[in-house]
Amino acid sequence: MKILISADMEGATGVTWPADVLPGTPQWERCRSMFTSDVNAAVLGFFDGGADEVLINEAHWTMRNLLLEELDERAQMLTGRHKSLSMVEGVQHGDVDGVAFIGYHAGAGMEGVLAHTYLANSITGVWLNGVRASEGLLNAHVVAEFGVPVVLITGDDVACEDAFGYAPEALKVAVKDHVSRYAAVCRTPARTAVDIRAAAAKAASLAVRHEPAESGPFTVAVEFDAEHLAMAATVVPGVARTGERKVAYTSPTMYEGIRTFKAVTTIASAAVEEQYG
Ligand SMILES: [Zn+2]
Repeated sequence: MKILISADMEGATGVTWPADVLPGTPQWERCRSMFTSDVNAAVLGFFDGGADEVLINEAHWTMRNLLLEELDERAQMLTGRHKSLSMVEGVQHGDVDGVAFIGYHAGAGMEGVLAHTYLANSITGVWLNGVRASEGLLNAHVVAEFGVPVVLITGDDVACEDAFGYAPEALKVAVKDHVSRYAAVCRTPARTAVDIRAAAAKAASLAVRHEPAESGPFTVAVEFDAEHLAMAATVVPGVARTGERKVAYTSPTMYEGIRTFKAVTTIASAAVEEQYG
């Protein structure tokens, strides 16, 4: 049994503030070890539950956050940027039986600690076939296309609630309770590690790969906080303006859908000016 862990940082234990997840800050240096503790607890739990292999895919920002030297020696980690499937890279090779979303968070425009979808600020909403989408929901559709179930989600309580919408069967561990975008009641890493390890051990039994599902086409709508970002995004082939600050596109598969989404966010973020947005 092989498990893929997609590890994002905003939903990690103790994290509530932009500097906590911004590479290079002293706060990020401190929070890296709590993030690593969450991921390592999941690794230990999956091996407890019978996994033979656990691959961690770093999914936050520069994708260089976790402390490799603190991880259980049975795990392997994919570090660094520029990967075909970004946050769920590794799921496409036909050998993964279950995926865990560790440190996930609510989507753009939702309540939740550091809620966003890909871009921290500039995207105010994403919809997949009319349903408001978090990164968890988008990535769950990608992995489903490869026949792989999402078996475990950790994050704040809002991210866990959101996960009921895309992975109702999966185990969920809230490591903190949302108070506002920048505030949460946090549990200690010692406590959350115990909870995550126990949940991962149970979640291993849900890791059963099935026939790849074909459920497209997928229409993705993206709303920005500024008009010129919508205009900029239309340089991506197939992306059309649907409103003053909105674009949409339709892809036959989620593989294409998430790759086009990556192109849209990359172009839009390049169009953001420091002072006026
Ligand atoms: Zn994220």
